[in-house]
Amino acid sequence: GGGAESPREAAGENFRLGTYVRLRLVGDDKKFLEKELAAADAEIVRLEALFSANIASSDISRVNRAGGEWVKVGPETADLIKRSLAIAAETDGAFDPAIGRVVRLWGIGTSAARVPDEPEIRAALRGGGYKNVKVREEDGESYVKAPDGLWLDLGAIAKGRVADILKERLVSDGVRGAIIDLGGNLALIGSSPDGRPWRLGLQHPHKQRGEYFGVVNVSDGSVVTSGPYERFFERDGVRYHHIFDPATGYPAKSDLDSVSIIDADSTRADALCTALFVMGRARAEKFLEKNTDLAAVLVLASGDKVLVTPAAREIFELTDKKFTVEV
Ligand code: FAD
Ligand code: MG
Ligand code: MG
Repeated sequence: GGGAESPREAAGENFRLGTYVRLRLVGDDKKFLEKELAAADAEIVRLEALFSANIASSDISRVNRAGGEWVKVGPETADLIKRSLAIAAETDGAFDPAIGRVVRLWGIGTSAARVPDEPEIRAALRGGGYKNVKVREEDGESYVKAPDGLWLDLGAIAKGRVADILKERLVSDGVRGAIIDLGGNLALIGSSPDGRPWRLGLQHPHKQRGEYFGVVNVSDGSVVTSGPYERFFERDGVRYHHIFDPATGYPAKSDLDSVSIIDADSTRADALCTALFVMGRARAEKFLEKNTDLAAVLVLASGDKVLVTPAAREIFELTDKKFTVEV
């Protein structure tokens, strides 16, 4: 290498959005790529300050504290809440952005993680879910209202949205190749430095991080995975994970071990893989039959089988031969 036409790269890692964010940009001009890298990180920080339920001054936290009053929010927040409500409706509430009190109550992934009692769970569900969240536009401003006691949490969709915003910005600035890795939520620009599609591993649900059961070959797309192995704690031999069934307020009892979605739209992919995990195999298959464009790879909890939708067949390659593929 080293010739004038060989691609240059810039890469960085920061702790953002409660996870490790890794950006790798490919182009011709190293200085330009370094500048884009810094601007991308600043953009993540800006968006996290709007979307995070863990930052008191964020748009989301201000809505959650408003006791049922209208709150003025930024346009990105209003857009993301509207998309969240639409996907919540589309998935019959399996994805529910109004799950915030349940998330906070269990505290999974924090030092406050515990198993709440039934009355606490009932209280956390009392707000009634996403149908009670309202968005209003007036004179070019956006307002959001959630009933008193109902809290929003965009943890299952915001990384996808941040990835889409970054991607759009990098592309319009002229970056011709990138891997945007927001804690395993991947969005891609162009192809890899060798000109082939990016080859991305899908995490094995029961093995060390970085051990894959398969790979997908993707250019210009996004790959998102949800599973119960990401964040959990154990109490009395029972494992409690961070993906909740909004119908019960408990960690979803899913017969799936993970759901990966490969889609150009990372926002939708993020929300839907959480939703399909909550749905479990039977409901997820019905949803996928209605959405034949979706490329999805589902690992069954039985431990021996992977379901691959027709749209994913061309890009998915099984590498762990302990599994069999069912289409
Ligand atoms: P996904 O399946 O994509 O999402 C699961 C997360 O979504 C859960 O953690 C919960 O927050 C929420 N959720 C659970 N069930 C449902 C459901 N049925 N419908 C809708 N949503 C559901 N982590 C920290 O530890 N500290 C932080 O300060 C922090 N800040 C963050 C700020 C932002 C803007 C974002 C996007 C994430 C942040 N996180 C933070 C991480 C976050 O709490 C989640 O753990 C993470 O987003 C989970 O992503 P995932 O891909 O593993 O799972
Ligand atoms: Mg998600
Ligand atoms: Mg995710």
